[in-house]
Amino acid sequence: MTARVLVSARILWGMSAAVVAVLSLLPPDDLPSDLGLSDKLLHVLGYAVLGALGVLSGARWSWALLAVVGYGFALEGAQGLLGYRSFEWADLVADAAGAVVGVLVASRVMREVQQSRDARRQSQKRQERRERRERARNPNKDKAMNPVKAGAKRGAPTWQQVAKRQGSKCWLCGTRTYADDHRRDASGTDHLGKCFPCVDYVVALESGGTYAESNLRLAHRHCASARRANPALTTFGRPPRTYT
Ligand SMILES: [Zn+2]
Repeated sequence: MTARVLVSARILWGMSAAVVAVLSLLPPDDLPSDLGLSDKLLHVLGYAVLGALGVLSGARWSWALLAVVGYGFALEGAQGLLGYRSFEWADLVADAAGAVVGVLVASRVMREVQQSRDARRQSQKRQERRERRERARNPNKDKAMNPVKAGAKRGAPTWQQVAKRQGSKCWLCGTRTYADDHRRDASGTDHLGKCFPCVDYVVALESGGTYAESNLRLAHRHCASARRANPALTTFGRPPRTYT
Protein backbone atom coordinates (compact mmCIF):
# COMPACT_ATOMS: atom_id res chain seq x y z
CA MET A 1 0.00 0.00 0.00
CA THR A 2 1.25 3.44 -0.73
CA ALA A 3 1.61 5.81 2.20
CA ARG A 4 -1.28 7.94 1.00
CA VAL A 5 -3.67 4.98 0.86
CA LEU A 6 -2.51 3.93 4.31
CA VAL A 7 -3.15 7.37 5.80
CA SER A 8 -6.57 7.75 4.16
CA ALA A 9 -7.54 4.27 5.38
CA ARG A 10 -6.54 5.22 8.92
CA ILE A 11 -8.52 8.45 8.82
CA LEU A 12 -11.55 6.59 7.45
CA TRP A 13 -11.10 3.91 10.08
CA GLY A 14 -11.22 6.51 12.86
CA MET A 15 -14.22 8.27 11.30
CA SER A 16 -16.15 5.02 10.88
CA ALA A 17 -15.38 4.01 14.45
CA ALA A 18 -16.75 7.36 15.62
CA VAL A 19 -19.93 6.96 13.55
CA VAL A 20 -20.46 3.44 14.91
CA ALA A 21 -19.94 4.72 18.46
CA VAL A 22 -22.44 7.54 18.01
CA LEU A 23 -25.05 5.20 16.51
CA SER A 24 -24.45 2.68 19.29
CA LEU A 25 -24.73 5.13 22.16
CA LEU A 26 -27.58 7.40 21.03
CA PRO A 27 -30.92 6.83 22.67
CA PRO A 28 -33.02 4.52 20.44
CA ASP A 29 -35.52 7.33 19.73
CA ASP A 30 -32.82 9.52 18.17
CA LEU A 31 -31.70 6.84 15.71
CA PRO A 32 -32.67 7.14 12.06
CA SER A 33 -35.31 4.47 12.23
CA ASP A 34 -36.43 3.62 8.74
CA LEU A 35 -33.28 2.53 6.94
CA GLY A 36 -34.99 -0.44 5.37
CA LEU A 37 -32.31 -2.70 6.79
CA SER A 38 -32.57 -4.94 9.80
CA ASP A 39 -30.68 -4.00 12.94
CA LYS A 40 -28.44 -7.08 12.71
CA LEU A 41 -27.60 -6.44 9.08
CA LEU A 42 -26.54 -2.92 10.04
CA HIS A 43 -24.25 -4.41 12.68
CA VAL A 44 -22.71 -6.78 10.15
CA LEU A 45 -22.22 -4.00 7.57
CA GLY A 46 -20.79 -1.50 10.04
CA TYR A 47 -18.27 -3.93 11.49
CA ALA A 48 -17.37 -5.32 8.07
CA VAL A 49 -16.37 -1.77 7.13
CA LEU A 50 -14.42 -1.38 10.37
CA GLY A 51 -12.63 -4.72 9.87
CA ALA A 52 -11.76 -3.97 6.25
CA LEU A 53 -10.45 -0.49 7.05
CA GLY A 54 -8.40 -1.96 9.89
CA VAL A 55 -6.57 -4.26 7.48
CA LEU A 56 -6.25 -1.54 4.84
CA SER A 57 -4.71 0.69 7.53
CA GLY A 58 -1.79 -1.70 7.66
CA ALA A 59 -2.75 -3.68 10.76
CA ARG A 60 -2.22 -7.45 10.73
CA TRP A 61 -5.51 -9.17 10.07
CA SER A 62 -5.49 -10.81 13.52
CA TRP A 63 -4.93 -7.49 15.28
CA ALA A 64 -7.53 -5.74 13.17
CA LEU A 65 -10.07 -8.47 13.96
CA LEU A 66 -9.23 -8.38 17.67
CA ALA A 67 -9.43 -4.59 17.82
CA VAL A 68 -12.74 -4.37 15.97
CA VAL A 69 -14.43 -7.18 17.92
CA GLY A 70 -13.08 -5.70 21.17
CA TYR A 71 -14.47 -2.33 20.11
CA GLY A 72 -17.88 -3.92 19.49
CA PHE A 73 -17.72 -5.61 22.87
CA ALA A 74 -16.86 -2.32 24.57
CA LEU A 75 -19.74 -0.52 22.84
CA GLU A 76 -22.21 -3.28 23.75
CA GLY A 77 -20.94 -3.07 27.34
CA ALA A 78 -21.44 0.70 27.30
CA GLN A 79 -24.95 0.15 25.98
CA GLY A 80 -25.57 -2.19 28.92
CA LEU A 81 -24.48 0.55 31.32
CA LEU A 82 -26.48 3.30 29.65
CA GLY A 83 -29.87 2.04 30.67
CA TYR A 84 -31.75 3.23 27.55
CA ARG A 85 -29.81 0.73 25.40
CA SER A 86 -29.09 -2.87 26.24
CA PHE A 87 -26.25 -5.36 25.97
CA GLU A 88 -27.18 -7.98 23.38
CA TRP A 89 -25.07 -11.03 22.62
CA ALA A 90 -26.79 -11.30 19.25
CA ASP A 91 -25.53 -7.85 18.34
CA LEU A 92 -22.02 -8.82 19.36
CA VAL A 93 -22.20 -11.96 17.21
CA ALA A 94 -23.35 -9.84 14.27
CA ASP A 95 -20.45 -7.43 14.95
CA ALA A 96 -17.93 -10.28 15.00
CA ALA A 97 -19.37 -11.86 11.86
CA GLY A 98 -19.17 -8.52 10.06
CA ALA A 99 -15.62 -7.95 11.27
CA VAL A 100 -14.54 -11.39 10.02
CA VAL A 101 -16.07 -10.75 6.60
CA GLY A 102 -14.46 -7.31 6.34
CA VAL A 103 -11.05 -8.55 7.43
CA LEU A 104 -11.16 -11.52 5.04
CA VAL A 105 -12.18 -9.43 2.04
CA ALA A 106 -9.62 -6.71 2.76
CA SER A 107 -6.84 -9.26 3.34
CA ARG A 108 -7.70 -10.90 0.06
CA VAL A 109 -7.59 -7.57 -1.75
CA MET A 110 -4.28 -6.65 -0.11
CA ARG A 111 -2.81 -10.00 -1.11
CA GLU A 112 -3.93 -9.62 -4.71
CA VAL A 113 -2.44 -6.14 -4.89
CA GLN A 114 0.79 -7.34 -3.32
CA GLN A 115 1.00 -10.33 -5.65
CA SER A 116 0.46 -8.33 -8.79
CA ARG A 117 3.06 -5.82 -7.57
CA ASP A 118 5.53 -8.64 -6.87
CA ALA A 119 4.89 -10.15 -10.28
CA ARG A 120 5.49 -6.80 -11.92
CA ARG A 121 8.70 -6.26 -9.97
CA GLN A 122 9.91 -9.74 -10.82
CA SER A 123 9.32 -9.40 -14.52
CA GLN A 124 11.13 -6.06 -14.35
CA LYS A 125 14.09 -7.77 -12.68
CA ARG A 126 14.08 -10.54 -15.27
CA GLN A 127 14.15 -7.94 -18.01
CA GLU A 128 17.08 -6.15 -16.36
CA ARG A 129 18.99 -9.42 -15.97
CA ARG A 130 18.39 -10.21 -19.63
CA GLU A 131 19.69 -6.81 -20.68
CA ARG A 132 22.75 -7.14 -18.42
CA ARG A 133 23.53 -10.55 -19.91
CA GLU A 134 23.06 -9.15 -23.38
CA ARG A 135 25.46 -6.29 -22.65
CA ALA A 136 28.05 -8.66 -21.16
CA ARG A 137 27.92 -10.84 -24.24
CA ASN A 138 28.17 -7.92 -26.62
CA PRO A 139 29.67 -4.82 -24.97
CA ASN A 140 29.64 -2.94 -28.26
CA LYS A 141 25.93 -3.25 -28.77
CA ASP A 142 25.29 0.41 -28.18
CA LYS A 143 28.12 1.30 -30.49
CA ALA A 144 26.99 -1.20 -33.10
CA MET A 145 26.49 0.30 -36.49
CA ASN A 146 23.11 1.83 -36.89
CA PRO A 147 22.39 2.17 -40.59
CA VAL A 148 20.46 5.34 -39.91
CA LYS A 149 23.17 7.07 -37.90
CA ALA A 150 26.39 5.55 -39.21
CA GLY A 151 27.18 8.47 -41.49
CA ALA A 152 25.97 11.27 -39.25
CA LYS A 153 28.37 10.26 -36.48
CA ARG A 154 31.36 11.25 -38.52
CA GLY A 155 29.80 14.47 -39.68
CA ALA A 156 29.43 13.04 -43.17
CA PRO A 157 26.22 13.45 -45.13
CA THR A 158 23.86 10.54 -44.55
CA TRP A 159 22.36 8.53 -47.34
CA GLN A 160 18.94 9.73 -46.12
CA GLN A 161 19.92 13.33 -46.75
CA VAL A 162 21.18 12.51 -50.20
CA ALA A 163 18.15 10.34 -51.01
CA LYS A 164 15.82 13.12 -49.93
CA ARG A 165 17.39 15.57 -52.36
CA GLN A 166 18.31 13.28 -55.23
CA GLY A 167 15.87 10.38 -55.01
CA SER A 168 16.52 6.87 -53.86
CA LYS A 169 17.88 5.37 -57.11
CA CYS A 170 21.49 4.24 -57.40
CA TRP A 171 23.31 6.74 -59.62
CA LEU A 172 25.53 3.98 -60.99
CA CYS A 173 23.09 1.31 -62.11
CA GLY A 174 19.92 3.37 -62.14
CA THR A 175 17.77 0.98 -60.13
CA ARG A 176 16.24 1.62 -56.77
CA THR A 177 18.10 1.08 -53.52
CA TYR A 178 16.63 -0.89 -50.65
CA ALA A 179 16.64 0.77 -47.24
CA ASP A 180 15.28 -2.41 -45.70
CA ASP A 181 18.15 -4.52 -47.00
CA HIS A 182 19.77 -5.02 -43.62
CA ARG A 183 19.34 -7.37 -40.73
CA ARG A 184 20.23 -7.28 -37.06
CA ASP A 185 21.83 -10.44 -35.67
CA ALA A 186 21.31 -11.88 -32.19
CA SER A 187 24.08 -9.74 -30.71
CA GLY A 188 22.43 -6.55 -31.98
CA THR A 189 24.89 -5.82 -34.76
CA ASP A 190 23.49 -4.51 -38.02
CA HIS A 191 24.52 -6.18 -41.24
CA LEU A 192 23.88 -4.11 -44.33
CA GLY A 193 22.95 -5.85 -47.55
CA LYS A 194 24.58 -5.08 -50.87
CA CYS A 195 21.48 -3.27 -52.12
CA PHE A 196 21.38 -0.98 -49.09
CA PRO A 197 21.90 2.67 -50.09
CA CYS A 198 25.10 4.51 -49.31
CA VAL A 199 26.63 7.86 -50.15
CA ASP A 200 29.00 7.68 -53.08
CA TYR A 201 31.38 10.52 -53.88
CA VAL A 202 31.91 11.56 -57.49
CA VAL A 203 35.45 12.55 -56.49
CA ALA A 204 36.52 10.23 -53.70
CA LEU A 205 37.25 11.88 -50.37
CA GLU A 206 40.78 10.46 -50.50
CA SER A 207 41.30 12.31 -53.79
CA GLY A 208 40.15 15.63 -52.37
CA GLY A 209 36.41 15.18 -52.84
CA THR A 210 34.15 17.23 -50.57
CA TYR A 211 30.73 16.98 -48.93
CA ALA A 212 29.37 19.51 -51.41
CA GLU A 213 26.04 18.48 -52.90
CA SER A 214 27.54 18.28 -56.39
CA ASN A 215 29.97 15.63 -55.15
CA LEU A 216 27.32 13.43 -53.49
CA ARG A 217 25.44 10.59 -55.11
CA LEU A 218 23.27 7.80 -53.81
CA ALA A 219 24.44 4.29 -54.73
CA HIS A 220 23.97 0.67 -53.84
CA ARG A 221 26.68 -0.48 -51.49
CA HIS A 222 27.88 -3.06 -53.99
CA CYS A 223 27.81 -0.58 -56.87
CA ALA A 224 29.83 1.94 -54.85
CA SER A 225 32.35 -0.68 -53.84
CA ALA A 226 32.67 -1.94 -57.41
CA ARG A 227 33.36 1.60 -58.52
CA ARG A 228 35.94 2.05 -55.77
CA ALA A 229 37.65 -1.13 -56.93
CA ASN A 230 37.61 -0.03 -60.54
CA PRO A 231 36.89 3.67 -61.13
CA ALA A 232 36.73 3.04 -64.86
CA LEU A 233 33.45 1.27 -64.31
CA THR A 234 31.95 4.52 -63.12
CA THR A 235 28.54 4.14 -64.69
CA PHE A 236 28.59 0.56 -65.90
CA GLY A 237 28.43 1.66 -69.50
CA ARG A 238 25.56 4.14 -69.03
CA PRO A 239 25.96 7.87 -68.91
CA PRO A 240 26.03 8.91 -65.30
CA ARG A 241 22.79 10.34 -63.97
CA THR A 242 23.12 14.02 -63.26
CA TYR A 243 21.53 16.04 -60.52
CA THR A 244 21.04 19.74 -60.29
ZN1 LIG B 1 23.40 0.22 -58.12
